[in-house]
Amino acid sequence: MSPADCAGCGAPDVELCPACRLLLRGDPVELEVQGGLHVVAALRYEAEAREVVLAYKARGRLRLDAALSSALAVAVGRVAPPGPDGRAPLLVAVPPSPAGRRRRGWDPVERLVRRAGLATVPGGLVVRPGRGGGAQKHLDRAARQRARVGCLRADPCLAGVRVVVVDDVVTTGSTLQEAHRALSEAGASVVGAACLAATPLLAEAARRPRHLNGR
Ligand SMILES: [Zn+2]
Repeated sequence: MSPADCAGCGAPDVELCPACRLLLRGDPVELEVQGGLHVVAALRYEAEAREVVLAYKARGRLRLDAALSSALAVAVGRVAPPGPDGRAPLLVAVPPSPAGRRRRGWDPVERLVRRAGLATVPGGLVVRPGRGGGAQKHLDRAARQRARVGCLRADPCLAGVRVVVVDDVVTTGSTLQEAHRALSEAGASVVGAACLAATPLLAEAARRPRHLNGR
């Protein structure tokens, strides 16, 4: 696929064709990850939507941020309505892994949040030094989760503050679980998480009645 073709379906000479653009308007999926965190994902991470996310994140087609940030904003709006005091919760982004940051030199989540006209708490969550950089692809889900615990640290200034976690792609949910843990430990009140996309497996699990979810 040439970099000048539709990032979703490969249609020639267009950044994003009308059909793929429509697809990215989002059909939010609501799910719950272990630990009880409520998650809204704007897109299913499959087919054309997955291609567009990959073109943006892995191949650096940054102009896709316009369409993707609109999708993320839909998820944020769904999970973070204003509280009784009329104020919306603060957004806290999941930081990129040190390896991801080195490889890209930019932060895909922060870029989408800014493009959507929103802002996150700077340094709200950080990767603990020496943690979170190792390859975890060979680990099964439980081992990944064990490896993640303690990877993130939340700013103690967030104690007593209502926050929403923001991330790009939720795969197993273990990163969101760790973000939830770190923020709760710092005393923040975590309202939920807003993500750009969820893998089909998680999205399908969310569709089943809760008693079949195995949680
Ligand atoms: Zn297309």
